[in-house]
Amino acid sequence: MDHNQLNDIFVRQLTLSGVREGETVSVLSRGGERADYADAALFAAQELGANTFHLRVPPARAAAGGAWAVGDSGLGTNPVAVEALKQTDMLIDLTFLLFSKEQFAIQDAGTRILTVVEPPELLARLLPTKELRERVEVGAELLAKASSMRITSPHGTDVTYQLGRYPTLSEYGYTDTPGRWDHWPAAFVFTGGTDDGVDGTIVLSPGDVLLPFNTYVQSPVTLTIEKGFVTDIRGGLDAELLSSYIKSFDDPRGYGMSHVGWGLDERAHWHGLTQFPGGMGMELRSFYGNVMFSIGPNNELGGPNDTPCHFDIPMRGCSLFLDDEAIVLDGDLTVPEMRPAARR
Ligand code: FE
Repeated sequence: MDHNQLNDIFVRQLTLSGVREGETVSVLSRGGERADYADAALFAAQELGANTFHLRVPPARAAAGGAWAVGDSGLGTNPVAVEALKQTDMLIDLTFLLFSKEQFAIQDAGTRILTVVEPPELLARLLPTKELRERVEVGAELLAKASSMRITSPHGTDVTYQLGRYPTLSEYGYTDTPGRWDHWPAAFVFTGGTDDGVDGTIVLSPGDVLLPFNTYVQSPVTLTIEKGFVTDIRGGLDAELLSSYIKSFDDPRGYGMSHVGWGLDERAHWHGLTQFPGGMGMELRSFYGNVMFSIGPNNELGGPNDTPCHFDIPMRGCSLFLDDEAIVLDGDLTVPEMRPAARR
């Protein structure tokens, strides 16, 4: 993307994120990655009258087995860098700090954090809006009040999450709230089941998405869930790949049930992976009416599981009920205030 365009979308992003005169905005990058994003973020922060600096740490050492191990920020042995970031009002994270202790410490200091790692064309096309934020917040309110969630599908999914132990989080692609984290682009809500309170069956069907494989399921995968853990995975090649990957972490907590919720962005395409193979799948997490569940860590929600093994699995065509009330029905949102204005 052209520099001027990139500068323009960063100015619009940081405006939504409430960056103003007198604030300090830090930018964190690793190695040579996303130098163009760092420049655009510095430009935008300065345009809006903020003080700004770019903190660049060395590249990540390759994780064992080349897996996508979440939670290793590269800042764990760098307390001076963490202290500098804590003193800023907003951090633009170009490294994916999520699930690390350092991210939580920076948030606890009151710094708001925005992660930006997706391809520029996607940042532009799914630039957040206030209207989308309002719709996401309607969903978050409903979810926060619920004490149980049931998900069903025509393919045989029938799973129930007991809720109430963990907070509800929202992602709408920008953040103007002290201490709050968000990810650009994003439009979904989620919470987690109680630690031993998820039971049932999930049947992944062709077209559901396996992140971080960044692949579409080709043949059905049947997951049995008992007391908050996946106890059986059956099916063809997709089931074997899923099993083999989790097993490679040699960590029983890799089978834990993690966050669960639904997506709201009608601009996000289910077929997005075919367009932007370089990203980490935020478009797939966000597409309108998807139901996404996750396997692995729940420390993001304040839970005890901090395994580095993590899957996000957005599914199509599911129904989701909160305390027996339909919220998503066959992949469509039922609540008018969560729908785009044209579909109310
Ligand atoms: Fe996740």
